[in-house]
Amino acid sequence: MRLQDKVALVTGGARGMGEIEARLFAAEGATVVIADVLAGEGREVAKQIVEGGGRARYLDLDVRSEAIWKDAVAAVVGEFGKIDVLVNNAGILGGRATVEGTTSEMWHSVLDVNALGVLNGMKAVCPVMRDAGRGSIINVSSISGILAADYPQPETTPNVAYYASKAAVRMMTKVAATQYGRYGVRVNSIHPGFIQAPMAHDSMQDPERLRYFMGVIPMRRAGTPHDVAYGMLYLASDESAYVNGAELVIDGGYLAKA
Ligand code: NAD
Repeated sequence: MRLQDKVALVTGGARGMGEIEARLFAAEGATVVIADVLAGEGREVAKQIVEGGGRARYLDLDVRSEAIWKDAVAAVVGEFGKIDVLVNNAGILGGRATVEGTTSEMWHSVLDVNALGVLNGMKAVCPVMRDAGRGSIINVSSISGILAADYPQPETTPNVAYYASKAAVRMMTKVAATQYGRYGVRVNSIHPGFIQAPMAHDSMQDPERLRYFMGVIPMRRAGTPHDVAYGMLYLASDESAYVNGAELVIDGGYLAKA
């Protein structure tokens, strides 16, 4: 199995892409900690993994709080002895809006979860991995961290705070990769495109937006959470032992023709 004996913490693992990643990691031999603010859903996913013969547990974790992160990491290390893999997947869209429609409330709430949450996670876990001399951190950015999509209706594009937060994640990843590579800790980012997961569900239901995406994605389909989870699995495993500071784009070719 590709993650045998590894301990992986997945934020936002209660549903969507994080859930599929948690299930895949457990199927590949990892002990998975599902960290989220959705206790009901998160506990259910962990229960199902355990019933299926895997190892998982749910942990309440609001990624915005540095103090909560500290306690969470201490609890995981106390219970399992280590953290081999951290997936910073938790994120919010915070609404769709043009630049002038983006409020400062939107800005702060999106940046708090998507950027500060990732920083908090790395700050809490990096010392554990540095002391162990190994570890893999995977930060979930987006194609929105690289490209400003030209939506047919500009007011239905993700708000500018979302784009900014995902661009921040891309660069924070490279900074951490540069600082912690010497300790055997790898830090990479994943950039999903248009994926059939909760954050894109409203776009899936909108015929005009769907037509737009099918026109700009060379593969002419949305991605699945499994398409992303397998990239995640590669970065989590020792197969990617020399991959550090990289950005893995999983978008059906969208960026290739931008
Ligand atoms: P989702 O809403 O199902 O997943 C987000 C998860 O994060 C949820 O489980 C949510 O409860 C959790 N979360 C939100 N705020 C939190 C907080 N403060 N603390 C802890 N957990 C919190 O959506 P998804 O589509 O599965 O998105 C997962 C990630 O992928 C996000 O970071 C998103 O930005 C990114 N992404 C999604 C797409 C897409 O097309 N769906 C594309 C590119 C990137």
